[in-house]
Order: sequence, then C-alpha cells, then structure tokens
Amino acid sequence: MHQSTLAQLSAALESKEISSEELTRLYLERCKKFNDSLNCFITINEDEAIKKAKLADQQRAENKHTALTGIPVAQKDIFCTNGIKTSCGSKMLDNFIAPYDATVVEKMNAAGFIMLGKTNMDEFAMGSSNETSFYGPVKNPWNTDYVPGGSSGGSASAVAARLTPIATGTDTGGSIRQPASLCGITGLKPTYGRVSRYGMIAFASSLDQGGPMALTAEDAALMMNVIAGFDERDSTSAEQQVDDYTKNLNNSIEGLKIGLPKEYFGEGLDSNIAKIVEDGIKELEKLGATCKEIELPNTELSIPAYYVVAPAECSSNLSRFDGVRFGYRCDDPKDLSDLYTRSRGEGFGKEVKRRIMIGAYVLSAGYYDAYYLKAQQIRHLIRDDFQNAFKDVDVIAGPTATGTAFKLNEMIDDPVSMYLSDLYTVSVNLAGLPAISVPAGFDNNLPVGLQLIGNYFEESRLLNIAHQFQQATDHHKAIPEGFE
Ligand code: GLN
Repeated sequence: MHQSTLAQLSAALESKEISSEELTRLYLERCKKFNDSLNCFITINEDEAIKKAKLADQQRAENKHTALTGIPVAQKDIFCTNGIKTSCGSKMLDNFIAPYDATVVEKMNAAGFIMLGKTNMDEFAMGSSNETSFYGPVKNPWNTDYVPGGSSGGSASAVAARLTPIATGTDTGGSIRQPASLCGITGLKPTYGRVSRYGMIAFASSLDQGGPMALTAEDAALMMNVIAGFDERDSTSAEQQVDDYTKNLNNSIEGLKIGLPKEYFGEGLDSNIAKIVEDGIKELEKLGATCKEIELPNTELSIPAYYVVAPAECSSNLSRFDGVRFGYRCDDPKDLSDLYTRSRGEGFGKEVKRRIMIGAYVLSAGYYDAYYLKAQQIRHLIRDDFQNAFKDVDVIAGPTATGTAFKLNEMIDDPVSMYLSDLYTVSVNLAGLPAISVPAGFDNNLPVGLQLIGNYFEESRLLNIAHQFQQATDHHKAIPEGFE
C-alpha cells in the first residue's frame, strides 16, 4: 500500500480496502522505522495524525468527505502549523510553536489530508544539500552516504522512501526541483503568486513559492487543485483564475514545441546527465513534440544575480529574529546590545549568517547601486530572455541539476561550488515562472531529473507533459533498495 500514488490511495479508501487509520498507522510506522537512518522528519506527529485519521474515517462513513480525505501528507517545516513546532530547520525557532496554520496547511487540512509530521530542511531554506539544518543532514534513500539535495531535502527523501505519499516543498532558487531530481521524484515549482505564501516562513519574498513534491505528475496535480489560488492574506498572491490541474493530464502532446537552451547543455553539465536528459527529450519527441535550439543569453548572470537578490531579501526578512520579537534568546544578556548579538550569533547557523552579511553588504548605502540595483536589472534581462523564447516555443526543457546527488560533506566547505550547482534552477525563480522536475533515469544508481519550464500560469501544461512522459516511461516507479 505504501507504494501507491494519491490516486490509488483515494480509490483504496473509497472502496474501503483500507481505512484512513490503518493507512496512517502504516506510514507512521515507516516514518519511525526509517527516520533514524534518513533523518527526514524534524517532528513526527503521531497522536494527532491518528486522531485526525479516525475523524477522516468517520467523515467517509457519513459521506462528508473529499476524494483526498484520510490521505497522509508531510509538511516542510517552513510552513506554520497551528500548535505544532515549526522550526524552519533552525535553532532560532527550535522552541517555536506556531499559533496559526499557513494557508497551504489550512487548505490541505480542509481537503482532509492527515499530517504525518514536519520535514527536515536546510536552515531557513538556504542550501542545496540539507546539510545546513540545525537538526543534522538528511540522507538520500538511493544511497545514504549522499545528500538528498535541498532545501526541501526532508520532503524529497521522505517521498522517495515511501514514508509519505506526498509532501510540500518550497522553491526560492530550486529547492523543490533540485531535491526532486536528486531523489527521483516529481516536484513542481508553481508560478510566483500561484500558491499563497501566508504562513510560509520567508527567505526571499520575491522568489519564494510553495508547491508539491510527489511520486507522479498526477499526484502533483491533485495537490495543486487543493493549494493553488488567490489569498487575500498574501499581497503578492495572484488573482488569476485557478485551473483544474487534472483536467488536461491525458491530452496528447502532439505538436508541442520544445525549446532547448544551448546554455543548458554546455559547460558545467555532466556528460552522463546530458545523455539521460537528451534521451528523456527524445521520449517527448516520440510522443509528437518537436524540438528547437533556443538561446537564453543571460543564463550565466543568473547565479550572481540570485546570490545578491536572495541574500538581500533574507537579511531584511530575518531581522525579526532578534530574541525579542521572535526567536531564540541567549542566556543572561548583559545589556540590550549583548542580547541582540548573542541571540542572533547563537541562534543562526553559518550559512544563514553568511547570507545575512552578504545581504546587508549589498543593500548598504555605498553598494546598493553597484550590486542590488544591478542584480534587479539582470533579473529583467533574464525575464525578457524567457519571454523572447516563449514567442517561438511552448515549453523549455533541460536538466534540473548539474549532476546527481553528491556525497555528504563533499561541498559543505565550498559554498561557491554549492551555489553554482543551482545553475539551471535559479533563473526560473528570478523570472517567476513555473517549472517541474520529473525522473528521467539513473546515473550510477542515482536519479537524474528532467526539467520543463513553462510560461506564466502554465502549470497545467507542464503537468500534462510530465504525465504523458510518465505514461511512456518507468523511471518514476523505481523504489530505492531497502525501502520497497
Ligand atoms: N540552493 C538555493 C539557495 O541556497 C535555493 C534554495 C531554495 O530554493 N530555498 O539559496
């Protein structure tokens, strides 16, 4: 049963093959059993989950349910959950019990999902390997000596190991897609503003976007139907009408025009990864798509621009964690200045401090024009590159990550290499576009993702293509050894 997709679980609950309580207990047992080795959960929510599952069974008996009532889910620990610890992977929030639910959580609860727990993540979502978490690194179920990617590595690892049928993630510069790629699952980063950020702890507000991490595109579509939509509590939430994301899944992709950016297949991409991604694209051609080379000439500027904009916004967002208004407070402060300095010094980890310092520097009076303003101008160029490309093609395809999962500790002391591994993901956030990563094969027994980037609000099209790809391929069905 734990190998099932959301659609299959929904059918099993409907036919009474299994109750929600049985299903929830089954997943909880797996979470507890495997969390010692994978470390993908910060909090397992056992008692509450069982209580909710019993309620779900009652709702089903009384015919007061949705198709998803009683299906377990894991929430990334960046989403506020009422009455439950919400740490954002940081010592700063180690004792924070959120007093309200994020909109995403509220919507999922209302749809009847049962929250199994909160998944581990890079501290404040800053990282690509899950090694910056205060709670220790997450392991990749395909090989526990390797990282799962980040920052939504706990969610990716938990879904890949079948500890939960689905999970949420957030993506500021690739944190849904890259861990999905490294763990062999499907991850969708929606258009900026499509999913509410209310109650999602802010890293870089103009880039952050929540979305599904699932076994299949169909499951991602089912979750999108629940979480997408306007939210008056998020001022950047889009008022645009929401699609039925499952409606077009079975459409043919005959005639689809795919753009292949030459910048995505050049230097920086591992040759084995290139081959797997190209084979994936050939699969789409067999389904009737045509390909054409395109140019995204400002791609090489995306990493430097992102690593100015994201730290700038984080230095401002994280200023609220001062031991007074929010967050950890140091013991026995001498005076106010000591209170601020030590609370922040002790509460934040190394990577977060590095970002805050870069952010404060690029925003400071003498450097604002040279760095921050320049980065914002580059952001426009990157957006224009994509808009030019979409005049000729329907979607853009390429790799999600520059390589497969790397070894734990391999890159942790080399932040620049770590930043460079975000090459194919950050420009999508800078432009605010939607993109999906789907499993496309294996290199050395480690998963490789194929990324599809769409124009604004074209999640439905991306899910359709991904679903058609998954009808024609089996990569997404592979289960890591030991987790069958
Ligand atoms: N790896 C990128 C970073 O460290 C992206 C993180 C994210 O998307 N949250 O900033």
